[in-house]
Amino acid sequence: MRAFWILGDQLQHDHPALELAGPKDLFLFIESRARGAHLRYHSHKLVLIYSAMRHYARSLESAGRRVAYHALEDGPSGGKGDYAAALEGMVRKHKITSLAVMRPSEWAMREALPKLARKAGVELAELESNQFLVPGADFTRWAGGRKHLLMADHYQVQRRRLGLLLDAEGKPEGGQWSFDAENRETHAQFAKARPAIPPLPREKPDGVTRGVIEAVRRHFPGHPGDPEAFWLPVTRERALHWLDDFIARRLAQFGPYEDTMAEGEPVLFHSVLTPMLNIGLLRPRECVERAAAAWKEKRAPLASVEGFIRQIIGWREFINGVYNLEGPAYAEHNALGAERPLPPWMQEGEPPLRCVAECVRQARATGYNHHIQRLMVLGNFFLLGGYAPREVVRWYMEHYVDAYDWVMQPNVLGMVLYADGGRFATKPYAAGSGYIGRMGNYCAQCRFDPKQKTGPKACPFNYLYWDFFARHRARFAGNPRVGMMIRTLDKKSPAERAAIQESARDFLG
Ligand code: FAD
Repeated sequence: MRAFWILGDQLQHDHPALELAGPKDLFLFIESRARGAHLRYHSHKLVLIYSAMRHYARSLESAGRRVAYHALEDGPSGGKGDYAAALEGMVRKHKITSLAVMRPSEWAMREALPKLARKAGVELAELESNQFLVPGADFTRWAGGRKHLLMADHYQVQRRRLGLLLDAEGKPEGGQWSFDAENRETHAQFAKARPAIPPLPREKPDGVTRGVIEAVRRHFPGHPGDPEAFWLPVTRERALHWLDDFIARRLAQFGPYEDTMAEGEPVLFHSVLTPMLNIGLLRPRECVERAAAAWKEKRAPLASVEGFIRQIIGWREFINGVYNLEGPAYAEHNALGAERPLPPWMQEGEPPLRCVAECVRQARATGYNHHIQRLMVLGNFFLLGGYAPREVVRWYMEHYVDAYDWVMQPNVLGMVLYADGGRFATKPYAAGSGYIGRMGNYCAQCRFDPKQKTGPKACPFNYLYWDFFARHRARFAGNPRVGMMIRTLDKKSPAERAAIQESARDFLG
């Protein structure tokens, strides 16, 4: 018997197995309790994956395919509930002799698969992945020999290759590749314009999702988030509805307010498509093509559409390329020697800074923060505080519905923490309270004062910022993008520097 194992983040309607499998072949699905408990993953992420898997398996059965499904609830309750036991059971029961799996997106599963197959006594074939738009070999060829990998270069190559937003001569529409500079409305501009923010589509859990919510509650107690408050689509049909809704109602404003942060408005004009994109319910190509069509039909301005397309074929594909290029050893990087354990209030209780507290509260409740909250509030805090990369990766992995190793490692080690020594970030994304106060409105309700630079009342971002550059002066002195900061630091008096150091020590402990 030949079987195709469909992994939980490979639920695409054009999975290569669907073409290859004949009517007698079996499709395997395994929900592993051990995998789900590997970290304290957000309960909404667990509900999303398991419910989407169950719906996908059902749709295969309805189409006349043969399916074997190992659910969380199956197997002995005291058993390990791991992939090996479930796979061995299925192999025995269905007399499977050969197993095909699409190349997993994560290194750990790539390495585990041959061992699992050997243990189960089946031959293993790896199918080429179609999860991403840029084939791994293309990225490797492009990256070959480059010391720094610049997303902007990769983006131009992909815009050309995919023929997106190009004029008849192959030049970028609007005369430039990026309209990033136009997409930076501050909170004050947002408050003045008061754009209406369309709510996200509402999902009503069906019987399948309700069963999963119950199973997640039982098997994963203590994971962040209330499974009952699950809010995401779990079928391709609903995922496409979310995509169309974004294109119709939020894309036009996506660009200008991409970097804005507003209390009580967790989504603003962001797409919230990653939960579905990262498990295959949506495909990156259809997302960018629908956005490009909206510009052609004059339903959204070029700056917004270009900005959105850049996030997907620029950043998303680039991040995945870096993950594959750098290999599993990338996770070990700690170029800045950051060793501090996370403060206990990142796990439980209330962080003292309003901006951090709001992002953490939102992440705990929904498993979602938008990019600037992830990067410039939380990431900035982790960077400036010198928190250990492994702990930071783990925190993000446990708090986001869209978290996977391939996207987390480069975003955290490369973009947030500069832990890879600047493989693709041209500077550390460090900022004081000025940036957070300009782009968001958290400071008004904060117990700290953004105007004070040091002392117990001062916003910690202010002194942590200068303390960070003082600690890493030697590394960044030659970096032209932060040279001005270093010169400003050098002009500070010994008393100012001592006050900065003391405030940082008092705050960080
Ligand atoms: P939008 O703001 O609407 O952006 C559109 C799309 O662009 C996203 O759906 C996503 O597919 C893509 N995108 C934009 N930036 C990135 C990026 N840096 N890396 C990869 N894709 C990008 N993305 C995840 O998919 N999963 C994660 O767990 C994740 N964790 C992150 C952690 C940190 C510290 C940082 C700095 C970024 C992280 N990102 C992650 C990238 C980005 O923040 C999210 O993709 C985005 O916020 C998801 O929300 P959205 O779908 O509303 O995105």
